Amino acid sequence: MRVIDHFVAGGPVPEIARFADILDPNNGGIQAQVALGNAAVLDIAVAAASAAQPAWAATNPQRRARVMFRFKELIEANMDALAHMLSSEHGKVIADSKGDIQRGLEVVEFTCGLPHVMKGEFTQGAGPGIDVYSMRQPIGIGAGITPFNFPAMIPLWMGAVAVATGNAFILKPSERDPSVPNRLAELFLEAGLPAGIFQVVHGDKEMVDAILDHPAIGAVSFVGSSDIAHYVYNRGVAAGKRVQAMGGAKNHGIVMPDANLDQVVNDLCGAAFGSAGERCMALPVVVPVGHDTAERLRAKLIPAINALRVGISTDTEAHYGPVVTAVHKANIERWIQTCADEGGEIVIDGRGFTLQGHENGFFIGPTLIDHVTTDMDSYHNEIFGPVLQIVRAENFEEAVALPSKHQYGNGVTIFTRNGHAAREFAARVNVGMVGINVPIPVPVAYHSFGGWKRSAFGDTNQHGMEGVKFWTKVKTVTQRWPGGSVGDLANAFVIPTMG
Ligand code: NAD
Repeated sequence: MRVIDHFVAGGPVPEIARFADILDPNNGGIQAQVALGNAAVLDIAVAAASAAQPAWAATNPQRRARVMFRFKELIEANMDALAHMLSSEHGKVIADSKGDIQRGLEVVEFTCGLPHVMKGEFTQGAGPGIDVYSMRQPIGIGAGITPFNFPAMIPLWMGAVAVATGNAFILKPSERDPSVPNRLAELFLEAGLPAGIFQVVHGDKEMVDAILDHPAIGAVSFVGSSDIAHYVYNRGVAAGKRVQAMGGAKNHGIVMPDANLDQVVNDLCGAAFGSAGERCMALPVVVPVGHDTAERLRAKLIPAINALRVGISTDTEAHYGPVVTAVHKANIERWIQTCADEGGEIVIDGRGFTLQGHENGFFIGPTLIDHVTTDMDSYHNEIFGPVLQIVRAENFEEAVALPSKHQYGNGVTIFTRNGHAAREFAARVNVGMVGINVPIPVPVAYHSFGGWKRSAFGDTNQHGMEGVKFWTKVKTVTQRWPGGSVGDLANAFVIPTMG
C-alpha cells in the first residue's frame, strides 16, 4: 500500500510504528496510508529547522521574497495536478480544489511584497540626541496544525507568512488528506527554499501534543474544530508559546424583505452546499426576516436545491462531491435526524442518497430544514455538511440578535438593498467577518481572516498584517550617540589617502 511519509529534511525518519488510512471518498475504499509520527520524528524536524533558520532569517527580505515568487509560479504551473491530488483525498470537486489552492496562492502573492510590510518604525529626536526605532524579527521555529477541509489554503495561510518573515515552519496537516501539503513542501524546495525551513510531519493527537510541548517551538497556529482549538490554545499558552487557534462556525445569512431573492437563492446554493458544506465560511443557516420573506424564499429554494447535482469529484457538472469520511457522513445524517426529532420540518431530505456506480462513496443529498428554532441542539452545533436550516425572524432586531448570541462568530452575511440596514448590521453584529450581499465573506489575502467567540482563541488573525504580527516579534531600540560637533566627526572619519 502507498504510504505518505513525513517530509523532514534532517535525516531518515525512525521506523514508523503507526499509520492511518487515507480513504477514497468517491468510492469508500482505502487508497493509501499516512505515517503517524511522534516526538522522535518531531525532534528530527526541529533539529533541521534549528540548523537552517538563522541563515534564512539573515537572508535579506528581498531574496526571501524572490523564493516566494518562484514558489507562486510553481504552484501555478502545478495547479491541475495539485487540484486532482486534493480532490482525490478530500472529495471536493476539481473547481473547488482549484479555489482552495488559489486562495492559498493569494497569500503567497501577498508574501512576495513582504519586504515592504516588514519595514520597522523610526522616530528621530525622541529626546536630546535620542532616536528610537523598532524592527520585526522572526519568532524562530513555528508550527501549524491544520484541518482536512482546506489542505492547500490553510497551510499556506500560515506557512507562507511564517517562512517569508524568516521563520522555519513545521506543518502538521490533517491525516485525512496529507498529500498536497507534502507536495507543497517539495515545490518550496524546488523554488529555492533551504531544506529545513518548510517541513511536514504527519500524525494525530500524539504529534499535536509533541508540538505543543516542544520547548524549541515558539509559536503555534491551529485551525480546526472548537473543542480542539481551545485545548491547543490552553496547552500551548501554558507552555509559554504564542498561539492562535481558529475553531468551528455556524454562519447565518440574513435575508431582508427587500433582498433580490433570485440572487439570494443562487448565492445560498453555492454557500450552503458547495464543497458539501464542509467550509468554515459556509452559510448553513438562513434567516428570512418576516413571514412573507420566509414563504417566498422557501418557494424559490426548493426547486433550486432539487436541481443541485451531486457527483464524483471529477464530474465537471457536479455542484459538490462526497463528504470526507464515512464517519462524517454518519454524523451529518445523525444531525438531520436530531433536527427532525427537535421539531424541525425536513423539507428536502438528503439522507439515503446513492450515486450509481459509486454506491459506497460518502455522498449526501442536499437537505433543507425549515422552522428551526434557537432551542434546538442542531441549531447550536456545527453540522458541517450539505444541510441548510431556515430560522425565521420576525424583524431586523431579532435577525441581528441570532448570530450575535450564537456560540460561534466566524462569518455572517446580510442580503438587502438598504444601505442603512446593512451599515447598522455590520456595526452591531457580534461576529468577526461580515458580508453585505456577499455570501462567503472570506477576506482577501492582504486583509486578515479570523472569527470571534468560539470560532477563534487568541488575538491575532491569519495572513495580512495580522499574520505578519503573529509570526514576528517587535524589538525596539532607543539609541543615543555621544555628542560633539559635526566637524569633529568629519575629522574622525576622514578616509586616509595614499602617499
Ligand atoms: P479537527 O479539529 O478534527 O482537526 C484539526 C486538526 O487537529 C487536525 O490536524 C487533527 O489531526 C488535529 N486533531 C484532531 N483531534 C485532535 C485531538 N484530540 N488533539 C489534538 N489534535 C487533534 O477538524 P477537522 O475535522 O479536520 O476540520 C473541520 C473543522 O475545522 C470544522 O469545525 C471547521 O469549522 C473548522 N475550520 C475552521 C476554520 C476557521 O478558520 N475558523 C477554517 C477551516 C476549518
